[in-house]
Amino acid sequence: MQDNAVPRETVASLVDGTITWKRAKELVRLPVKDADRFWKYLDVLQSRVFWKEKILLRVSEHLYIVAKGRERLIKCDCGHEFGDYRVNWKLGSRVRVRRTREDMKKVFPVEVAMPDVERAELREYYCPGCLSLLSVETAPVGQLPVFEVLPDLDTFYRDWLGKPLPDESPDWFQDRTCELTGQWARED
Ligand SMILES: [Zn+2]
Repeated sequence: MQDNAVPRETVASLVDGTITWKRAKELVRLPVKDADRFWKYLDVLQSRVFWKEKILLRVSEHLYIVAKGRERLIKCDCGHEFGDYRVNWKLGSRVRVRRTREDMKKVFPVEVAMPDVERAELREYYCPGCLSLLSVETAPVGQLPVFEVLPDLDTFYRDWLGKPLPDESPDWFQDRTCELTGQWARED
């Protein structure tokens, strides 16, 4: 197979999870990888959402980093916007916390797999717009929500893709979560 020979439909079947194992292995073993795979992938993702903001990166099943005006936001496929991607989106989600054995049993049918309720809690993060379950984590009580993905988009686009983003700035690759929690602390 030659470079750039992977059709868009194949990339779409990868996104959908409908690709055959045989075909997936062929793609993995290509001697020369298709250089435009990421752009086809983005094009497929963009065609699956109803909104127009340009997708820069998919970060989970439902969430994307998008460019909107001068901002880079976390946006759900339902259209809900969580705000600046440098702030952990979990702080803008609806959260269900399980702390008791009774509550944990509802999601852990095998008790031996259950977290130790003396030390840990189970947190479920839901989208306020569509109520999709976006993430689940087990963490010690009191620990801040885990910030799962803070990509260096400028480096990725410039050095890996060879197509720098037009709004490159050293300010983008920073965790701004504490600014939001600091703001909450100052509020009455
Ligand atoms: Zn949503």
